[in-house]
Amino acid sequence: MKFVNGFLNLLYPNVCGGCNSVIESPKIIICASCFASFPKSYEFLDKGNKIAQLFWGKIPLEHAFTSFKYVKGSSLQNLIYDLKYRGNTEVGRVLGVEIGKEIKDSNLRIDVVIPVPLHPKKQKMRGYNQSWFIAQGVQNVLACELNDTSLLRILFTETQTKKSRLERYDNVEHKFSIINPELLEGKHILLVDDVITTGATMVECCSILNKIPDVKISVAAIAAG
Ligand SMILES: [Zn+2]
Repeated sequence: MKFVNGFLNLLYPNVCGGCNSVIESPKIIICASCFASFPKSYEFLDKGNKIAQLFWGKIPLEHAFTSFKYVKGSSLQNLIYDLKYRGNTEVGRVLGVEIGKEIKDSNLRIDVVIPVPLHPKKQKMRGYNQSWFIAQGVQNVLACELNDTSLLRILFTETQTKKSRLERYDNVEHKFSIINPELLEGKHILLVDDVITTGATMVECCSILNKIPDVKISVAAIAAG
């Protein structure tokens, strides 16, 4: 068996998704030098960091941060591309662990982690929601709950399809709803996504979550665009 594995490894070596260098252990998917090269981003507890500032005046948040900065052409960009478009969901889990570690170090208690939902059509095409895997990585570190059933992205409706293409896009991209809100009452929610650019999607999600009694909301992502 060892011989077969060795042979398969020669044919299909285990390579790092960030830089394509060969990795000895099949359990590792991102090499150490890639990890070391990721530009560190903002601190979870720093309420005035640049990510938190994106939400000022829009939605009240406890904390907002990303683990890394997003640099074009970097190995981190390759990895996020793999996660979103090439089915390399393990990348989400591994980088979700990094988010989880930062929060654990802050000693702040998160009760439930929620992945930003994809539009159902998009999820059907892709076969998975990349944010769910990130949320799972976070959950593994924080030992909190993972809720992927309460926050939903709303489907097309008849009236929406009559609108212009641009309006429709707007409707599809930015409408969310909540079911069983009582499951989230009084909890500190961490909403997670892959990349935060303008924060618009997060704001839409949070404004709905914020209607639930006594919730506290924080947001996190792998990287800031
Ligand atoms: Zn690498």
